[in-house]
Amino acid sequence: MTALLQLNAISMRFGGVVALREVTLELRRGEIMGLIGPNGSGKTTLVNIVSGFTRPLTGTCQAMGQTITGLRPSRIARHGVVRTFQNLRVFRRRTVLENVLLGQAVHIRGLANLMPFPARRRDEATAEALSLLRRFGLEARADAAAGDLSFGEQKRLELARALAARPTVLLLDEPAGGMNPSEIDELRQTLGVLRSEGISILLIEHNMRLVMSISDRVACLCFGELIAEGAPEAVRADPEVIRSYLGQSG
Ligand code: ADP
Ligand code: MG
Repeated sequence: MTALLQLNAISMRFGGVVALREVTLELRRGEIMGLIGPNGSGKTTLVNIVSGFTRPLTGTCQAMGQTITGLRPSRIARHGVVRTFQNLRVFRRRTVLENVLLGQAVHIRGLANLMPFPARRRDEATAEALSLLRRFGLEARADAAAGDLSFGEQKRLELARALAARPTVLLLDEPAGGMNPSEIDELRQTLGVLRSEGISILLIEHNMRLVMSISDRVACLCFGELIAEGAPEAVRADPEVIRSYLGQSG
């Protein structure tokens, strides 16, 4: 299988804290890779580096064979690599529809702001955005301010906005955080559909039922080091993973 995303010996430190130590990992075409590990183990830092929000100290990232290390997030998104945030980051004062249009805007070069969206693309872009909103049950809320949505709705909006950029690789940082069980079930279904459509997903998540049931492979970080990687059952049974992570979180 081809690696859609290849991380080579990524290291990062903040002052005296080693956040990542030579992490080498690949995400293959059409797979969901779960990324687990205790708080502070470097999961978000890894996503920040891959998506261009943080520059690594050393190491490289490649998307479909092309080096993306050091590029700006919008450029990396054009390479098909798009992330969501552990803490929600919707544009609260923009409408729900505008939030999704902003996700698409990454493909329109030189577009600093959403408006004016180039007229010849506006109808097409709006139709596409509305169909994404429909998929996430948000079509009726298209004209509401994003900040007025419930927490669960904002989570779905963030995912819709990420998909609007037409990613081939989706980096999801704790998408189930704060969701209730039925929302998590819906999320599981959505992730399965996205995978079947050919999108590869790096899924950072503490919800073990979700990670273990949907992931094709799982990797575990501990103090910035990759301590295990493989089939979900094998990683769950790994003594070091149990000792450093699963033992505490249940
Ligand atoms: P995780 O997402 O696995 O909980 P993080 O990637 O957020 O872990 O953090 C990894 C380590 O790096 C932690 O020790 C954290 O305190 C530290 N860290 C992350 N970002 C910064 C930053 N911007 N400045 C200083 N330290 C940071
Ligand atoms: Mg994190």
